[in-house]
Amino acid sequence: MVNHGFFMNSFFAVSIDVYNKKEHIIHCVGYANEFFNNYQKNITIEERPLGEFIFDFSDEFSENRFNVLRDYLEKYKKFVENNKQRWYYDDELFEKHKDFATSIAFIKSGIFSDKFIEVQKHLALNDMHKHSSLQVLKACYPEKTSAINNVFQSFYIEDRLYVATDFNFIELFRFYLDELYSSGMFPRRCMNCGNLFLSGKKHGDVLCSTECKKKKKSQNTMAYYNNLSENEVLFNGIYRKWKQRIERAEEKQTINEKGISQLKEELRIFTDYNRTLVNKRKKENVPEKDGIPDYDSFDNMHKETLERYDSSLYQLFDSLKRNQ
Ligand SMILES: [Zn+2]
Repeated sequence: MVNHGFFMNSFFAVSIDVYNKKEHIIHCVGYANEFFNNYQKNITIEERPLGEFIFDFSDEFSENRFNVLRDYLEKYKKFVENNKQRWYYDDELFEKHKDFATSIAFIKSGIFSDKFIEVQKHLALNDMHKHSSLQVLKACYPEKTSAINNVFQSFYIEDRLYVATDFNFIELFRFYLDELYSSGMFPRRCMNCGNLFLSGKKHGDVLCSTECKKKKKSQNTMAYYNNLSENEVLFNGIYRKWKQRIERAEEKQTINEKGISQLKEELRIFTDYNRTLVNKRKKENVPEKDGIPDYDSFDNMHKETLERYDSSLYQLFDSLKRNQ
């Protein structure tokens, strides 16, 4: 019988299928050798969407989500305790048990955290022109990454390559991330619903689905309109009205080309003038009354200006139409 050296004859293996966006996981507690003698024995098989294994490292607990990694660790830990006599009197195994306990504590601390995502945003290409997960791990957990021993085992089942470990999960995490990075995928959190998902962008705002994109868009539009002042609303109304009227006159040729460009020029001047007033107010560059900025008078002046432009546009429009 081949001894694979997995602590307490247990292992966890993952296979990554980037093309079909899937991950395949197999794991067993206490039967590793039997499994490798006969590839079917007493193992658990999971198939999940790509990226889920990384999300297993998050410290979030969700009732709707089954965390495969934690489930394995719990079963494993129980098995190790129940078989204490096997490792307790063996120096080598006793040392390995210590590493096992440290490793589990580290994983449970939630390696894939918001801090991790933040550091990932600033990830630079290395000298192989690749994004490297080691860079992020080093930046987030400098004290832990020196202990990375770069060892895991690999095997094929049919044409599927698995990488396996007993409890060196930080290595598996690193391997998995490097595979994602090399395919241009970055595990991120949706800025609308908070879900973890794979994004094509490592920085900037990201949204996980078309539904979230739609929601965010309507939120932005609402926020925009809620923040508009009365004068901004008035301006938008006048501007839109004149843009449509000019376009229609151009289309139906009720005003000649020269007249149309004159109207367009007037509308541009109107827009510029409005912007100047909006900016003045934003910069608090407003005439004072009794030593304090007089916003009321300024806003009234702004309103009257907008209305004056509106009526002068009417006059111009009518006279151009008559001269046609
Ligand atoms: Zn979302």
